[in-house]
Amino acid sequence: MAEKHYDLIVIGAGSGGVRASRFAAARHCKKVAVIESNRVGGTCVMRGCVPKKLLVYGAHYAEAFEDALGYGWGISGLSFNWSTLIGAKEKELNRLEEIYHNILRDSGVDEISGKGLIIDKHTVEVGGEKLTTENILVATGGWPFLPDIPGIENVITSNEALDLTELPRRMVIVGGGYIAIEFAGVFQHLGVEVEMIVRSDTILRGFDVSIRTMLHDELIKKGIRIRLDSSVTSIKQGSDGFSLQLDPTESLETDIVMYATGRRANTRGLGLEEAGVILKGNGAIEVNAFSQTAIENIYAIGDATDRINLTPVALAEGMAVVETIYGDKPTAVDYANIPSAVFSHPPVGTIGLSEHEAREKYDVDIYISKFKPLIHTLSGRDERAMMKLIVDKKTDRVLGLHMVGMDAPEIVQGFAVALKCGATKAHFDSTIGVHPSAAEEFVTMRQKEVSDR
Ligand code: NDP
Repeated sequence: MAEKHYDLIVIGAGSGGVRASRFAAARHCKKVAVIESNRVGGTCVMRGCVPKKLLVYGAHYAEAFEDALGYGWGISGLSFNWSTLIGAKEKELNRLEEIYHNILRDSGVDEISGKGLIIDKHTVEVGGEKLTTENILVATGGWPFLPDIPGIENVITSNEALDLTELPRRMVIVGGGYIAIEFAGVFQHLGVEVEMIVRSDTILRGFDVSIRTMLHDELIKKGIRIRLDSSVTSIKQGSDGFSLQLDPTESLETDIVMYATGRRANTRGLGLEEAGVILKGNGAIEVNAFSQTAIENIYAIGDATDRINLTPVALAEGMAVVETIYGDKPTAVDYANIPSAVFSHPPVGTIGLSEHEAREKYDVDIYISKFKPLIHTLSGRDERAMMKLIVDKKTDRVLGLHMVGMDAPEIVQGFAVALKCGATKAHFDSTIGVHPSAAEEFVTMRQKEVSDR
């Protein structure tokens, strides 16, 4: 016999789940419960974006102090303490978790700790208690994927890398995507010898070619070793760390092996398929444009659906679902021109189509600017920036905007609004720059380039 009845039960209190719960309860006065088996805040706040960015900030001082010398600063007696950084990061995460608890409580959402199991389309069980509901929203996120190779039990993922008790001398990072690159930058700046093993011929596959080549060069300049076209076939623990067998015949010794080989939807053991929800081959939940599954009152958002796996997208999907169910306004998220960033050193910012994607559909003009940022004229650092526009010749619309360089994530956020509004190259050209800034390059590019491919 069900004890409690809800309008909406949300499974997963990550960014998307919390936002949807809060909107449904506070804005639409619905009776909502959110079920979470781990820490409230989910991957982004507890195991991803936020702690990662704090470590990125921590690591950036390694270069900032060096750069200061060129500006007349005398710096001595500086030291770095990993435990202090990790302790401060943990304190901040505890603070944020408390804020999330308060937000849910103040919105009138019932927070339930435990693992939710869908019994049928109107019943969810948690901790032995059966709750009934009109609608269910699955927002269970994702989890690191590890390939099945001998010795894989010896590796860590980004989850553990955020909580290492001490810094290793050497570290191998397998993968060439967002997480591998961001963590390679953090650890290398903090003095670890980092080597990346990338199975294909490029890092950041799928990104614009100019970003890939520019960032690859910059990472190497900073001392990160990158082995392309290389795979790990086995990992053995030895007396002094780990021994990695690489395809075809090489081997490599290291102290820690971190895998960042993608993530998979957290959809096992939730009773989804038993309830009639369809899963894709990789375990992600199949949904329509309104995030509705094959069962009309069960919705799913965020990484659990493996569409665009970014926190702000999960937030938008969560709000769209609430509008669809309770706002009497079927709302689909517009996935065009979603900006994203890689918090590498230097960082990447990108919006819209890569050159390769644009050329498949359009006749395009390419504008590229590569330069030494003003700050490094006195710091003496050998670091360059790259900015690129991809423009549709026919309509003059800017289809893609890409940058590698300091402040790229902050810069592209502003330009994302322009691209969303359909800005043309003529709009860019008629915009006055902020001088002196790197961002002004985006409105002063006049010289068409031959493809950067
Ligand atoms: P990505 O999909 O970005 O990269 C995975 C990497 O691992 C690729 O280089 C891929 O190679 C490689 N790979 C996949 N399978 C294997 C395998 N079996 N053996 C060896 N290499 C393999 O995943 P991440 O784990 O880096 O990040 C997961 C997601 O998290 C991202 O897609 C992103 O959506 C999100 N994220 C976003 C961030 C941000 O916005 N700044 C930061 C961190 C994560 P190949 O290219 O050949 O497939």
